[in-house]
Amino acid sequence: MSGILIIAEHIQGALRDITGEMIGAAASIKEAYGGPVNVAIISDNPESLSEDTNLAGVDEVFTVKVSGPDFDAAVYEEVACQIGAETKPGLILFGHTVNGMACSSAVAARLGAGYASDVFELGVEASEIVATRSAYGNKVNLEMVFPGKGIVVLGLRGATFLIPEEKGSAAITSKDIDVSAVTGTMTHVEYQEAPPSDIDISKADFIMSIGRGIQDKENLPRFEELAKRLGATFGCSRPIVDSGWLPKPHQVGQSGKVASNCKLYIALGISGAVQHQFGMKHVDTIIAVNTDPEAPIFNVATYGVTMDIFELADALERQFN
Ligand SMILES: Cc1cc2nc3c(=O)[nH]c(=O)nc-3n(C[C@H](O)[C@H](O)[C@H](O)COP(=O)(O)OP(=O)(O)OC[C@H]3O[C@@H](n4cnc5c(N)ncnc54)[C@H](O)[C@@H]3O)c2cc1C
Repeated sequence: MSGILIIAEHIQGALRDITGEMIGAAASIKEAYGGPVNVAIISDNPESLSEDTNLAGVDEVFTVKVSGPDFDAAVYEEVACQIGAETKPGLILFGHTVNGMACSSAVAARLGAGYASDVFELGVEASEIVATRSAYGNKVNLEMVFPGKGIVVLGLRGATFLIPEEKGSAAITSKDIDVSAVTGTMTHVEYQEAPPSDIDISKADFIMSIGRGIQDKENLPRFEELAKRLGATFGCSRPIVDSGWLPKPHQVGQSGKVASNCKLYIALGISGAVQHQFGMKHVDTIIAVNTDPEAPIFNVATYGVTMDIFELADALERQFN
């Protein structure tokens, strides 16, 4: 068992970023781990994606022709297991995505492999894979090793590993895999586009976010108006979205958007849970306003104000009027 097999992800004829990110992750440990880095593309037209997959670090791209263009968990599981049995990689990578989660653990179970999902760091120690993931609601990071496992299956977190910029010189090989036994067990119904949104948290340079401290949906327009008058993009914590008070594109954090280009972040009535911090703690200047002086948001804030956000809103409105 040596080398790395990557199960490519694509949607509606285009590779998803996670595929390049998995290649970047594999390339970063290739030398220390040893063996080839191979990528399997499973599609009704896999050749159309082979050039995009041919990135620096890839040795061979396997094109696997199946009956349809859409993801099918049973078919992906079957292909990964058959190529795994034939090429004997030490590590098989999936995206920690809706697709990857639907089949990666099944592949690990069938191959008797070690398994970890949502991995955001990958390393090699004494020729063994070390995978880092979070535990206890993201409060601690675990470094996982897989003693006695000849093969390891991992789901890698998206937007975490760098996509190689250079093209590769991989061989393209067509693989004939018999998936007739599982074909048709799943049906792809349709794609539904997310509703269009006029805000983009990832591009905004100034964000004012509200959290559960606003207490009631009726108070929301007041803070939305304040954000507008300040020239800030209006963000929020997850409970605001879960309550249906604002649409998902406003959510900052681990399961929302990362404020990648933000220079100034104002957090009003947000406790600062690790999942929220995931999306904003890197911002240069963070101003946090919270009545609780012990709120974790103050650990990452540049300026912290212990006060009622409604009093702050009164004061700002007086300034504006
Ligand atoms: C897998 C997973 C993914 C998650 N993803 C995200 C994510 O992407 N984004 C996210 O935000 N959360 C996420 N969460 C939820 C997260 O754990 C927290 O529950 C959430 O961030 C809390 O939101 P909050 O700070 O608005 O609410 P709370 O934790 O309830 O905090 C409200 C804060 O408001 C303060 N407050 C109350 N009244 C006032 C007032 N009048 N003036 C000033 N301050 C006041 C309180 O002191 C308190 O600190 C996720 C959780 C899980 C398990």
